Amino acid sequence: MKTSIKNVVVSFFLFGSIALLTSCQKDAMTSENLQYASVLSVSADGTTAVIEANLKSALIETSGLTDSELASLLKMKQEEKLARDVYSVLSQKWGSQVFSNISKAEDNHLNAITLLLTNYGSTEITIGEAGVFADAAVQTLYNDLVTKANVSIEEAFKTGALIEEMDINDLNESLVNTTNANVLLVFDNLLKGSRNHLRAFNRQLTTLGIVYTPVFISQADYDQIASSPMEKGKQYKMQGKGNGQGNGKGQKGQGNKGNGTCSN
Ligand code: MN
Ligand code: MN
Repeated sequence: MKTSIKNVVVSFFLFGSIALLTSCQKDAMTSENLQYASVLSVSADGTTAVIEANLKSALIETSGLTDSELASLLKMKQEEKLARDVYSVLSQKWGSQVFSNISKAEDNHLNAITLLLTNYGSTEITIGEAGVFADAAVQTLYNDLVTKANVSIEEAFKTGALIEEMDINDLNESLVNTTNANVLLVFDNLLKGSRNHLRAFNRQLTTLGIVYTPVFISQADYDQIASSPMEKGKQYKMQGKGNGQGNGKGQKGQGNKGNGTCSN
């Protein structure tokens, strides 16, 4: 009787282990072939950057860019540079960590756009000197924004909110005019970044007791963004394309979803 119970217990564990092993192997294979990860990294203060290795890995094969898609990318490239350069000046002027962090994130957004331009063989990837813009209207806007934001920290945070809501408006317009999956991916994530940055600046303004009135987006849209939490990126399938060469950081599949770990 005792032996027979022991046999049952032994067989149970033996069978259980084999079943567990089989399911682990299956999960390991699945996670190797199908990795999902976000292309965004979001800090507690709302600073939102693109994880370059994951962006490269998330890109899929598509046909070339249309003229309007190329024009949208070049316009957003200017806007990301405008944001980066204005925040860089304001970081030095006001010594605010928020401007310093977000300026670095804008530099990273700029890189995401040039990465996509390069992916489609565009040579219009030069960024140029800080505070200098090829487009005269953007140059005037930059000069005006810096002059205004140099007056006070309140004006500086209002300028941050203005730049972000302008980006949101322009990215929304660009999104409507493209069907290219890679352009949609980049714009969608830059849009999340702009909404998070708007939340970050709104938080600073609220702390200073300032109520900001939007110029480019509706009050309802502004209130909806300001009252909702920071957004994390959605999960994209990692194709492995353009990733894994000399990267060595193990960023592929960062934030992996449903990878069925076998350790517990
Ligand atoms: Mn940006
Ligand atoms: Mn931004």
